[in-house]
Amino acid sequence: MTMGSERVIRSPYDGREAGRVTVPSAGEVESAVAGARTVFGTTRRMPLYQRTRILRAVAESLLARREDLARTLADEAAKPLRFGRIEAERAAATFHAAAAAAEMFEGRVLSLDVNPDSAGRWGLLRRFPIGPVLAITPFNFPLNLTAHKVAPAIAVGAPVVQKPASQTPLCALALREMVLEAGWPEEAYSVLPLSGAVAEGLVRDPRLPVVSFTGSAPVGWRLKSLVPRKRVGLELGGNAAAIVHEDADIEDAAARCVGGAFAFAGQSCISLQRALVHEAVFDRFQKLVVQKAAAWKTGDPRDETTLLGPMISEEDAMRAQEWVNEAVSGGASLLSGGGRQGALLAPVILTGTEPGARVECEEIFAPVFTVNPYSSLAEAIERVNGSRYGLQAAVFTRDLGRIHEAFESIETGGVVVNDSPAWRADKMPYGGVKDSGTGREGPAFAMEEFTEMKILSVRLP
Ligand code: NAP
Repeated sequence: MTMGSERVIRSPYDGREAGRVTVPSAGEVESAVAGARTVFGTTRRMPLYQRTRILRAVAESLLARREDLARTLADEAAKPLRFGRIEAERAAATFHAAAAAAEMFEGRVLSLDVNPDSAGRWGLLRRFPIGPVLAITPFNFPLNLTAHKVAPAIAVGAPVVQKPASQTPLCALALREMVLEAGWPEEAYSVLPLSGAVAEGLVRDPRLPVVSFTGSAPVGWRLKSLVPRKRVGLELGGNAAAIVHEDADIEDAAARCVGGAFAFAGQSCISLQRALVHEAVFDRFQKLVVQKAAAWKTGDPRDETTLLGPMISEEDAMRAQEWVNEAVSGGASLLSGGGRQGALLAPVILTGTEPGARVECEEIFAPVFTVNPYSSLAEAIERVNGSRYGLQAAVFTRDLGRIHEAFESIETGGVVVNDSPAWRADKMPYGGVKDSGTGREGPAFAMEEFTEMKILSVRLP
């Protein structure tokens, strides 16, 4: 990627041109960072009514431009249209949630008259934005994951400098237009379609004291280690598991597991990768997921009937296929899928996989999941926790005691009951433990990450 040059973004499905971007020159990168720093003096004091008005106007534009955005997502990310529409709607919900959270983001009065010397004293605790936010975003939800950084930043009055994934800069550029049209200052949101290597300079830049990174674990943790004194949020990967207990609605669980594994070709950080199923219902569950997988029509993401498009690149599909073949060589059985045509991987279900196989213990990020039986809930929970990741997990059961046990014992940032681990509401706190990251998104929680508290201690004379 040469700085200052034009770059063509091509569809991962058929190579057609999705759009063009200009790679910013070194001078343009410098003025984006310097501009963000300067305009912070204005945005940090922008009144609440202006920030919420901007956030709500962006939400409305996202809904108005839903069809265009879905087409852009189909072209740059190969996301089937129906999922692109959902992503645009979710991004609007994220902006609305940020507006609501901004209205609730209030300080606290503290009684500080705790001993005779401090009689009459009180304190006012408020949070203030730390400074401009460097947002680094991945290819898989290029619109809504951008919204998850930009909306809370606007909510607290912080400028954003964004480095989108190289494959998917177009939605971020479209969002920027909407944000500026809504009245947010131009210098307070830049989108810089740079390569990862060049963006590392931005991570080190002291004028961008907050780094909000969503992407893969090795990149995220390395970036954090470069800047130990910065506020760094990491939303990283996972190999999410679901426990399907014998008392669950098995038909419903099978449908939700298939959806959670194959939506957007399994390229979600919380895609279901490991289904653990009680031995009493294991055979039935296996049959059901194979039947339901057959209904996942693969093909052109612009075709209204397509449910499963190609992966982001042929290399990624080849890597996933290699891991599947490796599991089969190690004794696993292929229940469905596995064929590949370029970047299109026919959705895979495996059984008899060992916990040490790469399809189990690494993040596959592909339409692939494993199904294995267990006999006790404790054994299933142990297998869920036997992962270096911990983003979300699911449990299907009607029993409150088991729900409680799962919530207490599963080591993840979230536990979903009676849906796949891929379920997420945009306002909820979202993030991982272990290698899956640090910090939380969801507008109200990201606003905490982008701010620091300050106390005013008052002595009445
Ligand atoms: P990635 O390769 O780690 O890239 C993420 C972003 O980091 C891209 O913009 C990438 O730019 C940039 N980058 C790469 N190297 C960099 C460097 N040295 N300095 C600064 N930036 C750098 O991840 P991806 O393949 O796009 O996305 C898939 C990953 O994201 C999966 O692991 C998935 O689980 C994770 N994810 C997590 C969440 C969550 O909320 N927890 C959500 C979605 C995805 P280039 O594109 O130019 O390389």
